[in-house]
Amino acid sequence: MTETAPIRIFNQMKKTLLDAAFPPGCASCAEPIDIPGTLCANCWQDLTYITPPFCEACGYPFEYAEPGVILCGVCVKRAPSFTRARAVLKYDDASRDMILGYKHSDQTDRAPAFASWMLRAGRELVEECDIICPVPLHRRRLVARRFNQSALLALEIGRLAKRAVCPDMLLRIKPTRSQGGLSARARFRNVKGVFKANPLRLSQIEDQRILLIDDVYTTGATLEACSDCLLRTGAADVDVLTFSRVVRGSDLSI
Ligand SMILES: [Zn+2]
Ligand SMILES: [Zn+2]
Repeated sequence: MTETAPIRIFNQMKKTLLDAAFPPGCASCAEPIDIPGTLCANCWQDLTYITPPFCEACGYPFEYAEPGVILCGVCVKRAPSFTRARAVLKYDDASRDMILGYKHSDQTDRAPAFASWMLRAGRELVEECDIICPVPLHRRRLVARRFNQSALLALEIGRLAKRAVCPDMLLRIKPTRSQGGLSARARFRNVKGVFKANPLRLSQIEDQRILLIDDVYTTGATLEACSDCLLRTGAADVDVLTFSRVVRGSDLSI
């Protein structure tokens, strides 16, 4: 049955009124909740927060603390180019929809809530940095998606913590195929030579302690490529703060 114009208009009005009566709900399942930007009790308890003990360098969570162990096996073999990486949540079934919804479905109203959680998880990193820089999107992807999800998080964190943010410190000079489904080694190859320091922003990079922001830490390949680029350009130090983190052995399909 086709909708007549008056019914269509009525349905649209009903939706608008309902949206006004029930402000955006749980950041994961959209159930109505009391405090905007938070989660309902059900979703809250399903999430896995990344808390100490974890690897000092990449933030990989350890199941238990072992005296004298501060680095994970991967970082012992080869230290990442950034100094510290921290994340709020484990990327898993419970957090995936919330993150993909934010990234691909225009749920940008989640950015302030995500940023406040990131600020809590990475307070030390935020306080110690001079300037915040998001992982950039390639121009073509930015046009398709209309916003850079990492830049929105960076701007919100900067606003909350009163820190400078430079959204175009790094440029993505080559489009890359999506990292989804690629092995760790292929991900590192895929981002080689992809980033370039913005020549107009050199004074904000040289001798500065920079905090890189992204939504998900997967293998660290993208973040390492960005960090390499900043350090080669003269940054004093680079830390990384992400909303979620894939814990090796769990699903990488993002
Ligand atoms: Zn929920
Ligand atoms: Zn590590």
